[in-house]
This record gives sequence, C-alpha cells and structure tokens, in this order.
Amino acid sequence: MLPVRAIQVTRHGGPEVLELVELERPVATPGHVVVRVEAAGVNFIDTYQRSGAYPMDLPFVPGKEGAGTIVEVGEGVEHLVEGEGVAWAFTQGSYAEYVSLSVSDVYPVPEDVELDMAAAAMLQGLTAHYLVTSSYAVMPGDAVLVHAAAGGVGLLLTQLAVARGATVIGTVGSDAKERIALQAGASHVLRYDLMDDIATDLPAAVRGIVPEGVAAVYDGVGRTTFDGSLASLHRRGAMVLFGAASGPVEPVDPQRLNSAGSVVLSRPTLADFTAEAEEREWRASDIFHGILLGDLSVRIDRGYSLEEAAEAHRALESRATSGKLLLHP
Ligand code: NDP
Repeated sequence: MLPVRAIQVTRHGGPEVLELVELERPVATPGHVVVRVEAAGVNFIDTYQRSGAYPMDLPFVPGKEGAGTIVEVGEGVEHLVEGEGVAWAFTQGSYAEYVSLSVSDVYPVPEDVELDMAAAAMLQGLTAHYLVTSSYAVMPGDAVLVHAAAGGVGLLLTQLAVARGATVIGTVGSDAKERIALQAGASHVLRYDLMDDIATDLPAAVRGIVPEGVAAVYDGVGRTTFDGSLASLHRRGAMVLFGAASGPVEPVDPQRLNSAGSVVLSRPTLADFTAEAEEREWRASDIFHGILLGDLSVRIDRGYSLEEAAEAHRALESRATSGKLLLHP
C-alpha cells in the first residue's frame, strides 16, 4: 500500500507536537468512500484536542473537517461516485492526503462551489447555523451580541443573524478586525481588547447602544467574556456559551442566572444539532445555497501546506486570524 502524508499527534502539547508522518493509505470499507483531501479546515477544537483540553487516545490524526474528491467507493455505497466532490465536518483525521469517510458523514458539494470554499464553510457554517436557528432562534428586531465577530464562526454568525433581521453588536480584538466585522454586517463593533475590565465595561458599552440589553449573547470566547456577557443581556435573555477560545469558564452558580434577569444559559455543541440526517442536510444545504446565491460570504484567512500545520495552530491561538484557516495536503 502506498504511504500517504499526514499530521500526527503522539503526545499532547503545544503546536510543536504536530508531526508530519507517513501512514498507510486508507481503503474503502463497506459504506465508506476514500477521498483525496484538497483542503482540511483548521478549527479551535483541533487545538483543544492537540493540547489535551479535550483528551484523545494517542496517537491520532487531527482535523474534523475538509473537502476533496472521491477516489474509491466501498461496497454498498450507491449515491456517491468516483470523481465527485464532497465535504465533511465530523470525521477525525482530516489533516492528511487521504481520508476514509462514512457515507453518512459526507455532503456532496454543489458543482459551482469550490472545494476550498466548501471546506471553509462546513464546521463553522453549520455551527453558525444552529446557533442562530436553534440555540437561540434570532427574531427580526432582536439585538444580539456576537463575540469574536471577525473570527471564523463569528463572521458567518454575524451574517446569518443579520439575514434573520437582527442588529448585531460585535466584539473584536483589532482595528483590522473591526473593519471586517462591519463588512460582515455588524451595526456596532466594540473593542473588548481595549477595555480595562470587560465584566463592567462591556455591559456599559452594550447598554449605551441598547439600554435594555441584548436578546442573546453568542459567546465562543469564554473565560474572559462570560461575566460581561451575562451582564449585557436583557430580562429573560439567552446566554449561548459555545466555546472557550480564551479558556474555560469557571463553574457558575445557577443563582447568577436569576440575578441576571431570569436568563437562560446553554452550552451547546454542533454534534447535538446535526445528529439526525435530515437536520444535517437542512443545515448544510442552507449553507451551500447561501454561498451559491452570494448571500453568505466565506472569508479564507490563509491556506497552509500540511508541513505548516503548527504555524496554522499558532496563528489561530494567537488571535492573529480572521476567518478560515485551511491546510492543503
Ligand atoms: P476564531 O476564528 O473565532 O478564533 C478565535 C477568536 O477568539 C480569536 O481570533 C480572537 O478574536 C478571539 N479570542 C479572544 N480571546 C482569545 C484568546 N485568549 N485566545 C485566542 N482567541 C481569543 O475561531 P473559530 O471560529 O474556529 O472558533 C470560535 C469559537 O467557537 C471557539 O471557542 C470554538 O471552540 C467554538 N466552536 C464551538 C462549536 C460548538 O458547536 N460548540 C463548533 C465550532 C467552534 P479577537 O482577536 O477578535 O478577540
């Protein structure tokens, strides 16, 4: 069997533990296809798995997301053919030249959508979609707060919330990101990196714009923003904590939800909003349609070679990026 290049993690740690290795090329088992990976998406979850924040069985190949071309079809696979472009968001092992995928995990990519674009839109697009439709379903006229609004999820979330009729207040960490978040449709952008105390300065700034507070906060930043997020909500608002880019939030006393105005705290994860095939297909087709119609703009920050995977992780973790990072094996 031909060797294929992949990134492997044999011990948890910093970006330096991402090692380029040669592994055996996968073969298509029943119900699976083997795909030549054109682009693998880099996501925050890859950094949590690498560092051990989400412990993994070692060794493992990182990367849950990508897009590529089917090169081999396993027994019993009827609706997919060799040469077809597909994308995925739930398969471990995407930082590699080839990956084996269960047919239930792949989405055929519409002809007019480039594979890079498909890889860039999957995981973060599906996430933004379930956040605005299901975690807190945005209503026309709502004001919502989106943290890291110029990030991968943030840019898509901002666009989808605006499309549903919301006024988006975004937070960002630089001048350049402020411009990018405004272009994505945010009406107001706050520089939380310049605030002395986010816990008090953020709600004051939000209430300067919307005196009663926002209907929902979408918070993927976590530790540094949680307190300020809670204090920015209006009565019975929705605190949607979906990530921990700055670190995990300390344990929360439920009484605080009472004091914040009977607010609802949720800590959702994508897998629970894509568990059923019908739901996955609805979300993926909405994302692809948005791209095809030009309603959803997917920003690719930078492409890296497989060898540069550590550099990509460093860039993502150091807040240096805006939009999607891709690896091109
Ligand atoms: P981003 O592109 O948004 O990158 C993270 C951004 O967070 C940074 O660019 C930075 O933006 C901001 N940030 C603030 N403080 C820090 C810090 N201390 N360290 C690093 N970044 C910081 O990443 P993604 O779009 O990939 O992911 C965003 C969040 O969404 C992550 O927490 C991720 O885990 C979560 N997520 C959750 C999912 C779910 O289903 N629950 C699914 C997918 C992602 P700025 O410079 O503007 O502050």
